[in-house]
Amino acid sequence: MLRTHTCGELRLSNVDQQVTLAGWVQTVRDKGGVLWIDLRDRYGLVQLILEEGVSASNLFEAARTLGREYVVKATGKVVERKSKNPNIPTGDIEVRVTALDVLNPAKLPPFLIEDDTDGGDDLRMKYRYLDLRRNTVRRNLELRHKMAQQTRIYMDGQGFIEVETPVLIKSTPEGARDFVVPSRMNPGEFYALPQSPQTFKQLLMVSGFDRYYQIVKCFRDEDLRADRQPEFTQIDCEMSFIEQEDILQMFEGLVRHLFKTVKNIDLPEVPRMTYAEAMSLYGSDKPDTRFGMKFVELKGTFDTVDLTSGKNFGVFDSAELVVGICVPGGASYTRKQIDELTEWVKRPQIGAKGLIYVRYNEDRTLKSSVDKFYSEDDLMQWVARFNGEGETCQPGDLILIISGEAAKARKQLSELRLEMGSRLGLRKPDEFKALWVLDFPLLEYGEDEHRPGEGRWFAMHHPFTSPKPEDIPLLDTDPGAVRANAYDMVINGTEVGGGSIRIFQRELQARMFALLGFSPEEAKAQFGFLMDAFEFGAPPHGGIAFGFDRLCSIFGGADSIRDFIAFPKNNSGRDVMIDSPSVISQAQLDELKIKPVA
Ligand code: ASP
Repeated sequence: MLRTHTCGELRLSNVDQQVTLAGWVQTVRDKGGVLWIDLRDRYGLVQLILEEGVSASNLFEAARTLGREYVVKATGKVVERKSKNPNIPTGDIEVRVTALDVLNPAKLPPFLIEDDTDGGDDLRMKYRYLDLRRNTVRRNLELRHKMAQQTRIYMDGQGFIEVETPVLIKSTPEGARDFVVPSRMNPGEFYALPQSPQTFKQLLMVSGFDRYYQIVKCFRDEDLRADRQPEFTQIDCEMSFIEQEDILQMFEGLVRHLFKTVKNIDLPEVPRMTYAEAMSLYGSDKPDTRFGMKFVELKGTFDTVDLTSGKNFGVFDSAELVVGICVPGGASYTRKQIDELTEWVKRPQIGAKGLIYVRYNEDRTLKSSVDKFYSEDDLMQWVARFNGEGETCQPGDLILIISGEAAKARKQLSELRLEMGSRLGLRKPDEFKALWVLDFPLLEYGEDEHRPGEGRWFAMHHPFTSPKPEDIPLLDTDPGAVRANAYDMVINGTEVGGGSIRIFQRELQARMFALLGFSPEEAKAQFGFLMDAFEFGAPPHGGIAFGFDRLCSIFGGADSIRDFIAFPKNNSGRDVMIDSPSVISQAQLDELKIKPVA
């Protein structure tokens, strides 16, 4: 080896030892008679020292020519430092250099390779290999490595077998858009890259593997919304002879194991909430439960006594839902601040028509933007409803209310709730609140992409998800009311995993495809292999997949997944470092029998 030690490991106990180190030059500080070099590698930073008169003069001259990021090898003796640096683990010592080799000079890097870099996103991505030298990015990948290791340890301990499934598969019409790969040997035909190994893991259950998992790349050709990657990684899992409860226990176990081993956090038992509850209390199927401000309905869609109608306030009278949150300490908001919030919810991204407020002053008086229509007694009833539903609404607080069509109003208020949570500092990146959301609807109605203007049912999770047995009769009469045996795990308001108990009978699967608008022929052509397999002894089974990149970013306390992926793509799906995607040669196109774009 070119070195005896790494740059991060020397301590006072190494004093007087002769060592050889290798690494990158972080800085050279030349103080005339004394010259210091900070040498860096993956393990840390160590200070080298050369002194005029003490070090050989040719050595001193050579050191003077070193530039940032030169790769060097240095030999010398470890000595105790006169002025110690408590900020780095090697700060008690330095190495008095007796031999210095430049292994490779370096051009000046295009940005500072330091924790706080001056490099913008584009530059960092173009020179990602330099960006990866920075501690912050490297630490994220170390965290990712640890997460993967600990996942394997847990899954192996529970008897799961890691099986690789193919990457060249078949395009299917459900779900997101597929990435496709032309087949040279089968001109005119294409493989698709998997959006997930869903059907393969189910087939492994038919094969009797019983417990499968895989840390696996998946591909979805979606218009890239913020912080999505066209290729991403899942922890993909499937189990046989289980019920939903078994899956919840097993994978809550995984998440708690990861928190314990990677972050030394004892995550308490993960609370559960139905989809319906999540929507009514938070207006979202992935609520951030690090803070309260739960929804309280003043005029609900069911079972709620209407506290708003009959006072000549047309906006509320005509609304399907009037729903609010109570912002702790918000009564001190000035009119200007409330106006600014109103503008915030009226932006097209949120789309609310307006925002009603009720200030519950410290002196217990009430002041609202609808005083013309509602007396203080009326408003006090609203306050009482907040307190009656377990939400505290105290003097000094502010009630913010949105009304309109129920689904829209809930979504708008959910955005406002998150915004208020952020503004009040209630969404701390180092606090972790996990949640299971259960009983998702099986189907949702949407526009048929092949028949514009016409609607059809879509699988909310995917077409292999089983309806709750007690809801199966509703499939014919009220498909929208059918609940699925489907579940999501949510951490800090982000969906980190989702799965379901699967259909395992051919007949029910065929019925599901029919509901989704497949003709029997289409269903057979697309998924005949799976339905055939169901006739050869398919066990009851179910599973889940976690978004691994996202899980890592949450553990790392970061918003973006990009810095937890070694070589990510940018927002237009490009790898700007290798410059991909790119055109291919005419010869390649000819071989594939593909005509170039005119
Ligand atoms: N394959 C599903 C997904 O990618 C997860 C699952 O149902 O296990 O969302």
